[in-house]
Amino acid sequence: MNDALPGILYIEDNLDNQRLVQRILGNQGYHVVVANDGPSGLALAREMMPVIILVDLGIPGLDGYETTTRLRSLIHLHNVPIVALTADGSPGARERALVAGCDGYLVKPIDPRRLPMVVSEFIAGHRERVSAPAEEADLLRAYSQKLVERLEQRVLELSAANAELGELDRLKSQFLSTLSHELRTPMTSLMGYLELFEQGMLGPLTKDQQEGLVVMRRSSETLTQQLNNLLYFQELRGRTMEPQMLDPIATLKPTFESFQERARGEGVLMDVVTCQAAPILADAKSLTQMTQALLDNAVKYTPRGGRIRLLFHDEPSRFILRCEDNGPGIGKEHLEKIFLPFYRVELPNTTVKPGAGLGLAIARHIAEAHGAQLTVRSQVRIGTVFTVVFPR
Ligand code: ADP
Repeated sequence: MNDALPGILYIEDNLDNQRLVQRILGNQGYHVVVANDGPSGLALAREMMPVIILVDLGIPGLDGYETTTRLRSLIHLHNVPIVALTADGSPGARERALVAGCDGYLVKPIDPRRLPMVVSEFIAGHRERVSAPAEEADLLRAYSQKLVERLEQRVLELSAANAELGELDRLKSQFLSTLSHELRTPMTSLMGYLELFEQGMLGPLTKDQQEGLVVMRRSSETLTQQLNNLLYFQELRGRTMEPQMLDPIATLKPTFESFQERARGEGVLMDVVTCQAAPILADAKSLTQMTQALLDNAVKYTPRGGRIRLLFHDEPSRFILRCEDNGPGIGKEHLEKIFLPFYRVELPNTTVKPGAGLGLAIARHIAEAHGAQLTVRSQVRIGTVFTVVFPR
């Protein structure tokens, strides 16, 4: 916005009128800022201090009357004149506009010679009033009734839309759940046969075949984990935890040991720093799933040669689990969104890692169900730290 010139806010959806008013008043040394509808007009009005506001009463959505009433509630605009520009010249229309909060009423078509003069009169303090004050109360009541009717209509529409969304959500959940069950069943027999091959129970294998089997197993495990995530996510809402007092480090030992092995296989160094921890109240399966999600990401996103550290820290009032890596890091703009279901950061020119964007959504859900806090700190090209704090 050109701050040197007095600003005019013009709320109007018609492009020709926008241009015309901008030209006429621009020539008079004003800076005309245009908004296409009520909500964007209100957003602009909150940020600027115009000398006058012109409102087309016929804008769609939040109409000109409602926009004016809302503008009137903005304290910094208390003394700013609001003038209606409208095609409606019917009897009573002017009074209705004044009752809604307008200070003046101009009927279109816009008169290029008159407009600058009228605008400067309003800026100088001119205000129109309802001619018969006795009628004002009736007009106000009629206006309020119309507003409430519109509100009622909106509430009904929103309730219907909400019910429809609820039904779509239920269908989506049912679909995902059926899909993941259906896919998991064949996965089980696939994994079973892989096992038989690996153990040599279906005859001897050449070295090449054994190497192929390793790749098949890794891919099958990834797929199974994704399916488990999907199922877990679908069942989140109805899931009941079975918390008990447990030693968190002993519970998680098999998990971090298997990740140490996986990290080694991928050329990543993984340290675990344990401590003497007092028991915490937790659901063992969920605690494991949450830790798996954090370690899975650390191993998945940290490139060969990188480092991961899983750290446990015990204090009288809390137990802390921290997963650090010196991988690619996560941009600031993604930091809170990565906890949303299905959110993934896909960077150009990088290989896409497997995943559905559910791991962290599940991890955060589990942390919250334990009254714990899962937070992230990260710096691009430096690394990422996820911290879970369990209060005692
Ligand atoms: P997924 O890994 O399946 O995509 P998540 O919910 O586990 O889903 O993670 C969401 C996104 O957060 C990932 O797509 C990834 O971009 C980013 N992310 C998570 N952990 C890390 C990490 N340790 N280092 C870098 N990026 C990460």
